[in-house]
Amino acid sequence: MLRWGAERDVRIVPRSGGHGFAGWSGGDPSSVVVDLSRLRHVGVSGGRAVVGAGAQLIDVYAGLARRGLTLPAGTCPSVGFGGLVLGGGVGPSVRGLGLTCDRLRSARVATATGTLRTIDRASDEDLLWALRGGGGGQFAVLLEARLEPAAVRRSAWFAVSWPWAAAEEALAAWQALVPAADPRLSSTFSLLRGTAPVVRAIGQWLDDDVAALRRAIAPLTRIAGARLSAGAAAHLTNQLRWAGCLGRPLAACHTAGTRPGGRMPRETWAGTSDYLARPLDAAGRRILTARLAARRGGSGAIILDALGGAVRDAGDPGAFPHRDAIVQVQHYAQPGSGGLTGARAWVRGNRRALRGRTTGQAYVNYPDPALPGYRRAYYGASLERLRAVRRRVDPDRRLRFAQDVG
Ligand SMILES: Cc1cc2nc3c(=O)[nH]c(=O)nc-3n(C[C@H](O)[C@H](O)[C@H](O)COP(=O)(O)OP(=O)(O)OC[C@H]3O[C@@H](n4cnc5c(N)ncnc54)[C@H](O)[C@@H]3O)c2cc1C
Repeated sequence: MLRWGAERDVRIVPRSGGHGFAGWSGGDPSSVVVDLSRLRHVGVSGGRAVVGAGAQLIDVYAGLARRGLTLPAGTCPSVGFGGLVLGGGVGPSVRGLGLTCDRLRSARVATATGTLRTIDRASDEDLLWALRGGGGGQFAVLLEARLEPAAVRRSAWFAVSWPWAAAEEALAAWQALVPAADPRLSSTFSLLRGTAPVVRAIGQWLDDDVAALRRAIAPLTRIAGARLSAGAAAHLTNQLRWAGCLGRPLAACHTAGTRPGGRMPRETWAGTSDYLARPLDAAGRRILTARLAARRGGSGAIILDALGGAVRDAGDPGAFPHRDAIVQVQHYAQPGSGGLTGARAWVRGNRRALRGRTTGQAYVNYPDPALPGYRRAYYGASLERLRAVRRRVDPDRRLRFAQDVG
């Protein structure tokens, strides 16, 4: 297809899981979409996890769990591995095992003009670097990834909630604790508004020592009104927990219509992202609770993922540029009576309200088509090197999208 497109000057758009927020893997009337969803094999060979670009995350977790192995990946079960790994991959083991892209050791790709290549450090160090967090939809089409797996059979989990009145105090405690904690601990703090506001943190500990986990998160449970649940389980069971699939057959844990038995519904929302390099001050925490309280005409969520640990300490970091951030912030809104326009206005308003307290950067895997200064925001200090890689591997910019490196 890529060769065909190059000969006819037709833009080819790769799609793995179709979960890109901006819908760019859907192409447009002048392009042709290459659907990679049937490249969904998951196996182990020569000590490497071998994953087809079209594999959905829950199948990656399940396929590796049979061998007592795992990869750090995301929470959503039906996200495509291709898009996730190329942009980074932040998930419930991120502080201990790093980003998904940190474990990429080699990649089978098709170039923009349709040549098949195996990319590793020996064959093309710069392109491998770009594929490790520089963002999908550019550079090359990933067909298969070979990654370094981690041996994790069991892990511990926790969920703690607080009364809404304690939201700012709970956030202060969480952000002081988790980004600097033992890297076995990964955690997400959420401010959610559906019918009633909810404040909670969930997290995972990379072995099944629940007592050690409880000790590590003790400051969170000392806040008045805290309600904690914690336990240990097979690591795959915990990935099903985060995916919202606990107690369901694995088949149900796929998007309806993409796999037989898939039950996960499709949803529409607006989203954007931020990074924090230091904890939010009291005024910043108040901004978040006030923004949530002010959300009208649909649901809203502000979700903070703790970084640090293996993200900060990656020995061989790849193109993912947000290593110094301590927290990644996701802003989401589902349209209700206020429609998608209201949802978009709310998430972008959150980002504006936090300006000066954030790094100004954003996650390329949570693309926001209206993000001002998106190149510096997504690609940060990696931008110039990414552009140089692209000029070399795709000088005619055949693989492109609206917010690529340019
Ligand atoms: C419900 C939901 C939950 C999510 N949860 C997480 C999470 O926990 N952690 C996290 O880090 N991210 C998460 N994401 C974001 C996710 O990482 C990105 O949306 C990612 O790009 C999705 O990959 P995909 O293959 O499914 O998407 P697609 O829409 O298929 O692709 C996204 C982009 O990558 C390009 N692309 C896709 N496949 C390839 C390929 N094989 N080669 C080259 N380019 C390619 C596409 O052209 C497009 O530009 C979530 C997204 C959703 C919708």
